[in-house]
Amino acid sequence: MAIYNINLDIFNSIKSNQKDNSGLNLLMPIATPAQLLTNSWILPSLEDLLFYAVAEGQETIPAHKFLTALKATGLCTGDPRLKECMDTLKETLKNTSDGVTLDRHLFKKCVQSNIVLLTQAFRKKFVIPDFQSFSSHIDELYESAKNLTEGQVADYIPQLAKFSSDLWGVSLCTVDGQRHSVGDTKEPFCLQSCVKPLKYAVAVHDHGTEHVHSFIGKEPSGLRFNKLFLDEDDKPHNPMVNAGAIVCSSLIKVKSVTLSFTLLNVTWFHCGYGIQCRFQSERESGDRNFAIGYYMKEKKCFPDGTDMTSVLDFYFQLCAIEVTCESASVMAATLANGGICPITGERVLSPEAVRNTLSLMHSCGMYDFSGQFAFHVGLPAKSGVAGGILLVVPNVMGIVCWSPPLDKLGNSVRGIQFCTDLVEHFNFHNYDNLRHFAKKHDPRREGGDQRVKSVINLLFAAYTGDVSALRRFALSSIDMEQRDYDSRTALHVAAAEGHTEVVRFLLEACKVNPEPRDRWGSTPIDEAVQFGHNDVVSILQNHLEKNSTSDGSDTKTQP
Ligand code: GLU
Repeated sequence: MAIYNINLDIFNSIKSNQKDNSGLNLLMPIATPAQLLTNSWILPSLEDLLFYAVAEGQETIPAHKFLTALKATGLCTGDPRLKECMDTLKETLKNTSDGVTLDRHLFKKCVQSNIVLLTQAFRKKFVIPDFQSFSSHIDELYESAKNLTEGQVADYIPQLAKFSSDLWGVSLCTVDGQRHSVGDTKEPFCLQSCVKPLKYAVAVHDHGTEHVHSFIGKEPSGLRFNKLFLDEDDKPHNPMVNAGAIVCSSLIKVKSVTLSFTLLNVTWFHCGYGIQCRFQSERESGDRNFAIGYYMKEKKCFPDGTDMTSVLDFYFQLCAIEVTCESASVMAATLANGGICPITGERVLSPEAVRNTLSLMHSCGMYDFSGQFAFHVGLPAKSGVAGGILLVVPNVMGIVCWSPPLDKLGNSVRGIQFCTDLVEHFNFHNYDNLRHFAKKHDPRREGGDQRVKSVINLLFAAYTGDVSALRRFALSSIDMEQRDYDSRTALHVAAAEGHTEVVRFLLEACKVNPEPRDRWGSTPIDEAVQFGHNDVVSILQNHLEKNSTSDGSDTKTQP
């Protein structure tokens, strides 16, 4: 299907020019009293603006064009926040002559009930403004991990052993509910240990941090996840290892978990024969977990009155819950969004529960690879034996990767590769510097945004003769030859202003091109001549002569 590149400039400029802070119409002609009385002078509504933006000069909009443009913003037609719009669209199209085309009036009718969300989307106000380009990078990372063939599919129960090692899917959901999926993202798989953070979050949400941690520690254990071992206070080390997760299961109620999943609007395959089989298999192969359970019972790790064997059953059932990458990405996004589900707007978990959960995922979420993962990827994550990885980029998005082949430490081979590549490309690592590290991409900003700021800062420093600012820019590996919209460089500006020190710094320390031409064909020497800065003229001339004699050729001149 064709991708329509909607030009939103009209939309943005009309809207921002409409009013200044005093509420007065600035750029539009003032309405006459007669116009006001007859109501013939009306500022375009948000619905009108959206129509103009999508229609691109046409009188009508084919519905698929609107839907394609909507998809490019990251919103899905199935998003519950767009229900009214989609229902009205369906009804409206039934009554049109061709079943496809919407005129302005019909279009407005369809979008009006969700106009705030739609306006945000089309004005690129979501956390990932350029969602299409971001998604295509994700697809590239997905493709490169697809080629990996290492790893073993878990086979301790038949329900896991049946999976093909070719299965591979990645879904993401941002805190604004923008969604993207690639690969086998509709295929159900068991949450297994990926359910541990959710269980813990529900426990803290229901009982508070203090209560939960009177039963469970917060330290990485340094031991295998299913080790029969407690900390020096005879408590499980943390909720991400089996012992801690079993105690967590004793603190929560079936009702709370069900409610959380429902609020998340997550499709989960919890009932019927499927879960019964998986649960039975888990239980039959769960000797180690029984051993842990009995040991913890002896050590009084459970709240008084706990029936340990039913807690274990609940633990096995929770491991056996099936999700898809698509549905689980909403859970991960809820953790990224401080506990509010991005697509329903409902608070599912308290901010305290989410913060605790992310901290523990960060330090203990990836089995015996947790330290390395925190070092290389720097993001909270939890993996499971079915090959799932729940990855959270706090305040930005949740990502779920799934591929059954596991490495020796029990993490999905393709999943780990994807997470590592993700932070190689984007500055999502917790300790990536968002202000100065220019080599990684920041999808939170519009492509041009960062560049424009950097050109302005550079040219302004050249204009004011601030060599120390320019030195800082050069040290942070900013391109010192950047041009503004008139193709003018810092050297043009410094030469025109007669700042000899700046000119010397740019030529000698930064080795910038001494003869760039701006859009009118002027070089820095032309500027210095025009404004009578003879000292600058001689610096530039000497530099050019020196360079042409030293390497025997003229310095390159950019067109
Ligand atoms: N059901 C598995 C167990 O309790 C979960 C394993 C995992 O995903 O880490 O041992």
